[in-house]
Amino acid sequence: MNEKVAMVKTAGNDAVPLRDAVQRALDLLDSPLKGVGPGNCVVIKPNITADSISWRQGIVTNPNLVHAIIELVAERNPREILIAEGIAVGQDVKKAYSFLGYDKIAGATGARLVDLYDEAFVDIPITGSNLHSTMQIAKTIMEADFLINVPVMKTHVAVGISVCMKNLMGTISAEQKKKFHFFGVAESVVDLNLVVRPHLSIADGTVAGEGDGPMANDPVGFQTILVGTDNRLVDTICARVMGFEPSEIEILKICNDRWGALPAADIEVVGEATSQTVRPFKHAAECVKPPQGVECTEGGACAACTGAIELALARARQMDILEQLKPLRIVCGPDSSPPGTGENVLVVGKCLSHLKETGNFVPGCPPQVFLIADELREMAGIDRIFGCKDGYNF
Ligand code: SF4
Repeated sequence: MNEKVAMVKTAGNDAVPLRDAVQRALDLLDSPLKGVGPGNCVVIKPNITADSISWRQGIVTNPNLVHAIIELVAERNPREILIAEGIAVGQDVKKAYSFLGYDKIAGATGARLVDLYDEAFVDIPITGSNLHSTMQIAKTIMEADFLINVPVMKTHVAVGISVCMKNLMGTISAEQKKKFHFFGVAESVVDLNLVVRPHLSIADGTVAGEGDGPMANDPVGFQTILVGTDNRLVDTICARVMGFEPSEIEILKICNDRWGALPAADIEVVGEATSQTVRPFKHAAECVKPPQGVECTEGGACAACTGAIELALARARQMDILEQLKPLRIVCGPDSSPPGTGENVLVVGKCLSHLKETGNFVPGCPPQVFLIADELREMAGIDRIFGCKDGYNF
């Protein structure tokens, strides 16, 4: 195989230094953009997980990096350049495009913004999967002449890290996302990567995210991009520089189990040396069983809900309020029954909004960690930090 990954430090977070950094990385890889020609449709897939969180938080892709990539792609005279995202369920990508300034970038460059949920999805057969026979993938993605994957580097509570392979979850339908959560995200993401094969992946570590990802990371001014043409390989190097053994990352472990570990001779990192770049990232809170005195009913809940509850419980423990809330009963997931009433009943997630009168209710789909933690604070008689929850009824 012998694929290369280019690792390049950036001199700033604006489009000009980032354009220089991407160009240096592409030069180290023998210019993969030469695969773009006149008449081509080039699709850029950033990671826009949330609609109202600054890219400076290390949770969504830096829009200035996408701007820099568009300028370099435009030199190849493609027919059109699209920025396309199918955001997390419950968020609004049009709002995100405006909040993050992608609309201004589109206006300045002529690129077109696409909400993949407005477009058609096609059923693509999957061979070699134990879970899926087909997957609903956006037609725009499948028909791209050249697909560029631009994930942010961040830690993630359910899968360890979320970079190139995981970012492709934004190419599938909302219904398919729910199936991923039902069948298991890590294995489903590996299957998805069998059929969506970006021509180029540029991992955004300008501002990366550590800790409670995917939605509550702390920013890391990492000032690095990692570029390659093989998602698994770029993720393997990202894992290493983030201080993980690749075998600790569930998605990469599944790849190793299916196809064997990548031989060291097949991994060539050009540019910065991995050993000089390693910066251990704080892990997302480990998936923990509810502590004694806390009972959690997960009636078919998505991992996004259960992960958010686990993180919020970890925060409640840090705040020393968990003991006083016991016995605490938490209910989530569409199949949960009414939990009865009581001061220490917490009902979580939009799919249980019909039960909101039965206990302390947290809206959202998926619900935000900070809102669940705020609800626990209020139940413990402490003021909320983030204000009223009513605006989160998505
Ligand atoms: S509220 Fe939670 S369990 Fe319900 S659909 Fe949304 S993420 Fe899934």
